[in-house]
Amino acid sequence: MSNCAKYSGEALSFIVEAKCSVTKARVANLILPHCPVGKLYTPVFMPVGTAATLKGVLTEQLKTLGCEIMLSNTYHLGIRPGADTVERAGGVHKLMNWERSVLTDSGGFQMVSLSKLSSVDENGVLFQSPYSSGEKKSNQPIAEYVDGGTEQNDMLLMTPEKSIQIQNQLGADIIMQLDDVVHVLTEGERVEEAMWRSIRWLDRCIAAHKNTERQNLFAIIQGGLQHELRKICCAEMMKRDKNVPGYAIGGLSGGEEKQDFWRVVSLCTDLLPENKPRYCMGVGYAVDLVVCVALGVDMFDCVFPTRTARFGTALVKKGGSLKLTQEIFKFDFSPIEDDCPCCTCKRFSRSYLNELISQPNSCAASLLSIHNVAFQLQLMENVRSAIISDTFPNFIKSFIQLQFPKGDYPVWVTEALSSVGVDVK
Ligand SMILES: [Zn+2]
Repeated sequence: MSNCAKYSGEALSFIVEAKCSVTKARVANLILPHCPVGKLYTPVFMPVGTAATLKGVLTEQLKTLGCEIMLSNTYHLGIRPGADTVERAGGVHKLMNWERSVLTDSGGFQMVSLSKLSSVDENGVLFQSPYSSGEKKSNQPIAEYVDGGTEQNDMLLMTPEKSIQIQNQLGADIIMQLDDVVHVLTEGERVEEAMWRSIRWLDRCIAAHKNTERQNLFAIIQGGLQHELRKICCAEMMKRDKNVPGYAIGGLSGGEEKQDFWRVVSLCTDLLPENKPRYCMGVGYAVDLVVCVALGVDMFDCVFPTRTARFGTALVKKGGSLKLTQEIFKFDFSPIEDDCPCCTCKRFSRSYLNELISQPNSCAASLLSIHNVAFQLQLMENVRSAIISDTFPNFIKSFIQLQFPKGDYPVWVTEALSSVGVDVK
């Protein structure tokens, strides 16, 4: 296809191969140090392996499902087993026996969301050690994780430099800047302060990044729900474009109105460079994925598919999900989904899974996690095929009809899709 955007950097290439003629959706080949040409295509969903493992799913199984890139959490890995240990193991890929691509987050989000006490100033995020109250659970000295932390010191400081140092040690293909995370419903001056600080921290992250030849630092657009701030943030961060191989849209999926959510996403995809990947953080519901792809997003991650699996819920095309804990599945000997290629659907019935969940049995969480990850990956593969054959608008219509069989389409879905020329009503 002619006139398609392309970027070729030190450790990342992004080649747009197809564009939807109606919506803002596109398919691109993303080439990373652990991903040769022609393997990894966007739009892509990245399952989250919190501490170098997807709970209940082996890396072998992920490979069989066709997963090419997964996410690991810097906060968790930095604490256990610790960045030095991961580095000595040969990096996160070697540690977990995963030779495909990995993205690590900056750790900032977990520090703010998981820590009982955290405060932010220009220097960094000060947070309470997760091991400071009660018994210490690890032999790893927490001091190696953040500057100023000692085993005796309850409060620890994470700076942009420290986040990048840890992520350099972990060795993921894509690393994220430390940003100033504010809750999406925060209002007033704090939102603007966090936006400007995230820009300054991007500069500090760029300066601290040692492995530009094998690791790609992504910027994170902040600015809450305020369009003017998002515009400034995009413009400022794009001034650093030569040091930034990709951009994330951050600070969403935190309980905001969906009407606000999609408008910010769409605004950012309009402003961000066409020739670099756009990653919308923390998005994982099937409907959200399809809508955001139509709005021009390329990459997604979310714990939702594996988390909901552990509560006995299977993701399906018709109606969205099945709560396999329900009695009605006791004598249902069909698979979760007839046409699902995953090993759970090929081998086991809803009835069997219903029984395992009721025991409860950890195999149930594992089998459901495998299906749910397969569901997400399959969905994205179908999305990419539809964009390539330029039938994406029709794909969206049938997909939305199946997800909402009663026709009760959420207003935000119809509005967002209509903004890119697709009428699903
Ligand atoms: Zn399945």
